[in-house]
Amino acid sequence: MKYRKLGKTNLEVSEIGFGGEWLERHDEDESVELMRCAHEKGINIVDCWMPDPKSRDIIGRAMEGCRKSWYVQGHIGSTYQNGQYVRTRELKEVRPAFEDMLRRFRSDYVDIGMIHYIDSLEDWNTAMNGDYIAYVRELHEKGIIKHIGLSTHNPVIGKMAVKTGFIEMILFSINPAFDMRPATDDLDSMFTGYENKDFSGIDPDRAELYRMCEENNVGITVMKGFFGGRLFNKEQSPFGVAFTPAQLIHYSLTRPGVASILCGLDSREQLEEAVAYETASDDEKDYASVIAGAPLHSYSGKCTYCGHCKPCPVDIDIAMVNKLYDLASSQEETPESIAGHYKSLEHTASECIGCRSCESRCPFGVGIAERMTAAATLFGV
Ligand code: SF4
Ligand code: SF4
Repeated sequence: MKYRKLGKTNLEVSEIGFGGEWLERHDEDESVELMRCAHEKGINIVDCWMPDPKSRDIIGRAMEGCRKSWYVQGHIGSTYQNGQYVRTRELKEVRPAFEDMLRRFRSDYVDIGMIHYIDSLEDWNTAMNGDYIAYVRELHEKGIIKHIGLSTHNPVIGKMAVKTGFIEMILFSINPAFDMRPATDDLDSMFTGYENKDFSGIDPDRAELYRMCEENNVGITVMKGFFGGRLFNKEQSPFGVAFTPAQLIHYSLTRPGVASILCGLDSREQLEEAVAYETASDDEKDYASVIAGAPLHSYSGKCTYCGHCKPCPVDIDIAMVNKLYDLASSQEETPESIAGHYKSLEHTASECIGCRSCESRCPFGVGIAERMTAAATLFGV
């Protein structure tokens, strides 16, 4: 298992993480066993947005004896009222729900206290200007939550979170289908309406969010990376083709700022499939040819950082140069962090000999040689 630093939290999290939403649908012992098995395979981060007692008990039991080697994203504002999930900023509900989580985790802290699920501006204003956020800060000051995160599906809210300076990471929904869609505060609409729409590659708000996260060291953990399973099915996939778990995991993990993809694991087989990513070949991870070969796609001419264009005779990491170039060129001034990263590359774009052998391998028709020239000019090497 590989590990990545999660933004400002500095936590070293496994690049494959555990999304826990299926835990409560199984026998409790079975789910505890699944989490323990995931941990043995190196998974060390779990998201708990679930307010129900069973899911929380399962996570608590699975972490018994190894609490310190798990990192938990525990959501503040996800409550359980009359047997139902209710998202709220009302402190009289929020506080007992958070305390219940700690009790069921058999722990006196949560690694990352998540400002739970803000997608609309109205909810942002409510959450950020009242006793809800004061409570989050109080938990942080007391060390009961070690770090502060936020979950959202809306890139505009994600960008606002980055700008606060105190939110250290975000949980964000990423997959190739969502990436084409403009910002919305209606999550349900992200699952439909792909027919005959004139999409054009990655939505600018989403691209900007990834750029801002990378630049400001705000880590991203990924939810909904499989588009609710629809991308595994060519009939349901908006691209008209099916992807594999390894391809979708690779897509998420190659977005700027991303540290871990939290896979919703429902069975031992799904766990094996997700962890198999770690030893998958480049061909098995290759999402690019699937997107490019799809009857419906909108990524022509846009670099998706897939790495399909390798090898380069002078050994330029073309995907990385393109990623850093995109991050830098969308801003008036090149941020030092991006320039520093670029300059630390073993081979920079100025070494490109313009052979264009890479271009025939790019499934998206990216004009790589021109981009290398542009990158060399922008970064000065
Ligand atoms: S065109 Fe440049 S980047 Fe592409 S393979 Fe040739 S040298 Fe490498
Ligand atoms: S230039 Fe093409 S092949 Fe290379 S990383 Fe970008 S999209 Fe992939």
